[in-house]
Amino acid sequence: MKLERDTIELTLAELGVERASPQAAALLSCSPIDGSPLGAVRTHGAAEVDAMVETARRAFAAWRLVPAPRRGELIRLYADELRAHKEALGRLVSLEAGKIISEGQGEVQEMIDICDFAVGLSRQLHGLTIASERPGHRMMETWHPLGVVGVISAFNFPVAVWSWNFALAIVCGNPVIWKPSEKTPLAAQACLALFGRALRRYGDEAPNGLAQVAQGGREAGEALAGNAGVALLSATGSTRMGREVGPRVAARFGRSLLELGGNNAVIVAPTADLDLACRGIVFAAVGTCGQRCTTTRRLIVHADVRETLLARLRQAYANLPIGNPLDPATLVGPLIDAAAFDAMQATLREAVAQGAAVHGGGRVLQRQAPDAYYVEPAIAMMPAQTDVVRREAFAPILYVLTYRDYDEAIALHNDVPHGLSSAIFTNDLREAESFLSAAGSDCGIANVNLGTSGAEIGGAFGGDKETGGGRESGSDAWKNYMRRATNTVNYSRRLPLAQGVKFDI
Ligand code: NAD
Repeated sequence: MKLERDTIELTLAELGVERASPQAAALLSCSPIDGSPLGAVRTHGAAEVDAMVETARRAFAAWRLVPAPRRGELIRLYADELRAHKEALGRLVSLEAGKIISEGQGEVQEMIDICDFAVGLSRQLHGLTIASERPGHRMMETWHPLGVVGVISAFNFPVAVWSWNFALAIVCGNPVIWKPSEKTPLAAQACLALFGRALRRYGDEAPNGLAQVAQGGREAGEALAGNAGVALLSATGSTRMGREVGPRVAARFGRSLLELGGNNAVIVAPTADLDLACRGIVFAAVGTCGQRCTTTRRLIVHADVRETLLARLRQAYANLPIGNPLDPATLVGPLIDAAAFDAMQATLREAVAQGAAVHGGGRVLQRQAPDAYYVEPAIAMMPAQTDVVRREAFAPILYVLTYRDYDEAIALHNDVPHGLSSAIFTNDLREAESFLSAAGSDCGIANVNLGTSGAEIGGAFGGDKETGGGRESGSDAWKNYMRRATNTVNYSRRLPLAQGVKFDI
């Protein structure tokens, strides 16, 4: 398996990606498909990140005064560019993150969807009018632009997560500085180049510095987190990263929006449609090679249907097309890198030590792609929800647990530190509603009769507990990117005080 140089060069040329010379202080991006180099980008030190924040602060002073629907027009133009270059940008996501073609394209479609959502939103950034207890008074709330928004993103959604933040932040009146994953720097350069084209069509109403990219590893992210000029830091990645970034932002009373790890489970009840369950579980457990924050990592199955479901799952796993993600027939591409492979193997060893019987999990295609890491997704039958099961391993490992009574299933389900996504397969209305109730799943996303991954942009996305508590994307997530002012106007000739307080002078 060897990537063709032409595919790489033509893709980067269409997207207008400029690469740095390998001699410059550079970050080299390598494809997980075969380990070959795609290109280098220049990295930015802390002083350069600080200078970006200054540029963005100046941009904010101008952009917050542009009417929101006009700000929306810029995002509409950006969506045009994304539509025109969807195929190339999707291909770059496949090249750099190893996603299969339809998932790479799907990520760009998600960018387009959030842009469309943000354009509509640009005419709906409205607050409430509130009844005042004082005669001749009116109360209302107004939403104002917040300030510079910093975005730190993970490798596994190299373009969509930034877009969720960027499209909303721009219509809300805020410039954005993006610190992409050091594993996917070229996808970020491509997004910036496409936005540059939209800016040229938009004209000079837009100030310089609405979108900037700070390339590099955690140091660049730390510089963003520590800079008091960054009003909101939206950080997506591991819980370990959130534990470092969250307190750093809080120490300066900045706002943070944390989208961290998940340890998502599916409950399969005795009444479930097992065909539906099998398809939902396989997509969510092995899609993106188990490297989605919403990947199904735990299967909690009722004893009565366990053997039937497992037989189907094993058959589906045995027939999975694993290989080059650029081949349209492939469903499972590679792990991102050697470290991900080592972590997966260490996790499987630990699971065995804790009583697991493991099927699959080994390396495949090693001869065809010695510098890439293709694996057979693993199923690990667990005697109990041991320590290893309660941790997020970012690889295609599905732990199987058995239950006999619905309350036991919910207890197992919620007994992990994370709280991102969850699902139940059942045809029992009581169970379905109970799962969605206050006493059911404790996750930010709870589904019935579909898997844990593949969310739409219209809903708020995120989770609680060690997932960080942030909500992005649809619904009212835009409020994170604005500040709220409560206004009271007195149109009378008297000055009555609230709560009946008397203070006559
Ligand atoms: P990661 O935590 O290693 O890195 C994420 C980003 O944080 C990178 O840009 C990295 O450079 C930066 N970073 C790391 N340490 C930092 C620090 N101390 N200060 C500032 N920045 C720092 O995660 P990853 O391996 O790229 O992605 C996988 C993880 O991301 C998984 O845990 C997955 O569940 C999570 N994830 C969550 C969501 C969500 O929406 N909840 C979405 C995608 C991925």
